Amino acid sequence: TTGLIEADAVIIGAGPVGLFQVFELGLLEIKAHVIDSLAAVGGQCVELYPDKPIYDIPAVPSCTGQELTDNLLKQIAPFNPTFHLGQEVTVVERRDDGRFNVETSAGTRFVTKTIFIAAGVGSFQARTLKVDGIDAFDNSQLFYRVKDPALFEGKNLVICGGGDSALDWALNFVGKAESVVLLHRREDFRAAPASVAKMKALCDDYEMQLLIGQASGFEVDAAGKLNHLKVTALDGVTRRVPLDMLLVFYGLTPKLGPIADWGLDIERRQLKVQSTEKFETNVPGIFAVGDINTYPGKKKLILSGFHEAALAAFGAAPYIFPDKKIHMQYTTTSPKLHKVLGVE
Ligand code: FAD
Repeated sequence: TTGLIEADAVIIGAGPVGLFQVFELGLLEIKAHVIDSLAAVGGQCVELYPDKPIYDIPAVPSCTGQELTDNLLKQIAPFNPTFHLGQEVTVVERRDDGRFNVETSAGTRFVTKTIFIAAGVGSFQARTLKVDGIDAFDNSQLFYRVKDPALFEGKNLVICGGGDSALDWALNFVGKAESVVLLHRREDFRAAPASVAKMKALCDDYEMQLLIGQASGFEVDAAGKLNHLKVTALDGVTRRVPLDMLLVFYGLTPKLGPIADWGLDIERRQLKVQSTEKFETNVPGIFAVGDINTYPGKKKLILSGFHEAALAAFGAAPYIFPDKKIHMQYTTTSPKLHKVLGVE
């Protein structure tokens, strides 16, 4: 188990708003820890539209989702946030001393004075295979991501999906696995055309196989191990495909997940904030910013989230510095802000 991390501020979500929250807290000399269930920062901008230009960031006429994220990282660098990626926040609970216990799926534990929930549309999780009972094989013979490729070498693999992840892993395992079958529900692929062409060439050479159809059931051996997948083709015929391991890449879908269990006011999968002065939830010390929050007039835009992050930082400061009077200062002219920004 990891040691306990004592923090002033924990930010849940490393989307654009969570990242900018680091900046606004940093100006007030509050250091932040940032947690995200994804392995990369950037939230929807990186997960859903890394190469698409955004045109409504003030004073930035056009930048892609990835560029916005890279620039935010550059902007917050002086504040040296600690990132805890690839882990979902599962537990948030109030302690008797007024602080909060925060815990992640990876076992990282914090005690923090304030929490900023910048969780967007929720944490992105793998879309699961909808075949009754097949979840019994989760992480033994059924996988939604490849952590350790060695686990699949020498095995008979069925890989489901028609996007880049499915194609990339299928191509990767040809020659390393005993056999590779790619299963996709239609002839069209969402993957890079070069990968699709390579896959088809490998099929022509009998190095791998492509099946068009849907997984509709499975069979187990005497020991209860999954040994056949039933695949129903477009013509309605069901075939049995032998396998050792099943890999499914159906993309990611956001889930509100554990946030629903933290005693916060929720309205239509969004966190209600008490006021547009502080963006604090019904639990004092827990703030909600960006797409996850709701209030009269809310617009789910990045620029709204940036504004919310600024006011939430001021709203939270008294929990961290109860005796300090906090003044707003300009980054242009304030010697103090120049010092914290490292631009003296
Ligand atoms: P998100 O970007 O959703 O990030 C939230 C992060 O929190 C995610 O990374 C998630 O994994 C993480 N998370 C959630 N729950 C947990 C948990 N329990 N533990 C750990 N991590 C968690 N907006 C504009 O202003 N202009 C545009 O032009 C524009 N174009 C868009 C185009 C598309 C195709 C889409 C889908 C959206 C667009 N948006 C645009 C909306 C914009 O992307 C969102 O408003 C913005 O991403 C919200 O940022 P956020 O930081 O609040 O949340």
